Amino acid sequence: MFEKLTLIGIGLIGSSIARAVRLKDLAKTIAITTRKSETLEEARALGLGDIYTLDAAEAVEGADLVILCTPVGVYAEVMGQIRDRLKPGAILSDVGSVKGHVMKVIEPLLPAGVHFIPGHPLAGTEHSGPAAGFADLFVNRWCVLTPKKDVDPVAVDRLVSFWGALGSNVECMDAAHHDMVLAITSHVPHLIAYNIVGTVADLEADTQSEVIKFSASGFRDFTRIAASDPVMWRDVFLTNREAVLEMLGRFLEDLSRLQRMVRVGDGPGMQELFTRTRAVRRSIITAGQETAAVDFGRPHGQPEVVAPPEDVPAFAVREHGGGEDA
Ligand code: NAP
Repeated sequence: MFEKLTLIGIGLIGSSIARAVRLKDLAKTIAITTRKSETLEEARALGLGDIYTLDAAEAVEGADLVILCTPVGVYAEVMGQIRDRLKPGAILSDVGSVKGHVMKVIEPLLPAGVHFIPGHPLAGTEHSGPAAGFADLFVNRWCVLTPKKDVDPVAVDRLVSFWGALGSNVECMDAAHHDMVLAITSHVPHLIAYNIVGTVADLEADTQSEVIKFSASGFRDFTRIAASDPVMWRDVFLTNREAVLEMLGRFLEDLSRLQRMVRVGDGPGMQELFTRTRAVRRSIITAGQETAAVDFGRPHGQPEVVAPPEDVPAFAVREHGGGEDA
């Protein structure tokens, strides 16, 4: 499908693309570039590409598809390194979780003749780095592309086919619409998870209570989302501020309504709401975006106990699977 694919950044998403492209034979050459030499060596040891270099400009030389797979906060810096070496006619894309900001940053730096088609695969996990990726991460997941109206439709079709070949269902939409939809389906839920886990961690420290010990009763599911990459999520909230605040406003209004139901003992009101929300989950399962397996398909043998990193409180159980997007 492509002669040379360059991946800039080779973490969870970049390495998953590399694996899937290799498996499906979608590019003759895969060039990999990243910031740290340890990460590059890890990618080399995993055999993710054909060319490995710390020089992003060298990596994009002659590439007909370049995908930015770094946190969005470094796009301007990366564009400064590569813009003069991008091949005319090349497709430049990305996988960033916000799209309006990305377009604002990249468009002024775009050389003539390069087709810029922003993208966002709605697929991921809470893990990071080259070893975290896997080839079927994108299978049966959505990938949203947000090309401007004047972008060459042939280039858009090529990228749609590329993501289709990785197993994704592809949809094109306006960047502002993407950011609003993702604010409520992904960004605000992450904010809520970060907040509740932070509150519980503080409570545990303050009161020496047993919240971690009894965490399986609901809280545990938030901890998986709240374990997502801190740099990536910092950048999401720095760059999709308006849509997140809009959706957070709605969320807080609804939370106040629910708070009142609890305070006044409005049983029928709560039951009606919880019945509607249960139906939402069923429709997500019907749409094939979640498993119907009991307890998210968790094995019910002995949980895997992992030693926590030194700077992290002892959340002792590591979950697998999940399909977190961004
Ligand atoms: P990740 O596993 O942390 O990988 C990020 C990669 O970017 C690493 O290889 C890192 O390399 C590299 N990088 C960081 N700064 C760089 C720089 N200045 N120059 C070159 N490379 C640099 O992150 P990820 O989960 O793959 O996320 C990457 C992008 O995908 C983000 O924009 C995120 O919004 C988007 N996304 C994530 C998910 C998800 O669930 N994780 C889902 C969809 C989209 P070093 O180790 O060398 O610093």
